[in-house]
Amino acid sequence: MIRTTRLQIQTHGDNEMIDLTERVTGAVVESGCRAGITTVFVSHATAAVMISEFEPGLIEDINQTLERISPAGIPYRHNALNYDDNAHSHLRSSVIGPSLVVPFDDRRLVLGTWQRIVLIDFDTHPRRREVVVQVMGE
Ligand code: ZN
Repeated sequence: MIRTTRLQIQTHGDNEMIDLTERVTGAVVESGCRAGITTVFVSHATAAVMISEFEPGLIEDINQTLERISPAGIPYRHNALNYDDNAHSHLRSSVIGPSLVVPFDDRRLVLGTWQRIVLIDFDTHPRRREVVVQVMGE
């Protein structure tokens, strides 16, 4: 059985992190499947999904680490060629990636105690994002 749920998420951009764990859990429960895998996919080029502890200190640490990897406010070819301002957003989303696979069993996601499913929006302004949650199981 395959069931696809599309989550609509309004963000502020600028590295905002949103905990999707409860919404993904809801999609698994609504699927009626007992066990299987869940794919979480964000279909945008300046956002990403990851598994992380969701805690203010770590959120700041992640943002500072990504700022070191792809700083905002320095020259990028993408910005120059496209009159854009979000090359650093594209680079950060590429590093984290657009998708996750999380198994579930007994209708529960098999996550560790501190693991949360987190959307990060790296774009430079508020965006409306679609996150696809596809449940495959029996
Ligand atoms: Zn761009």
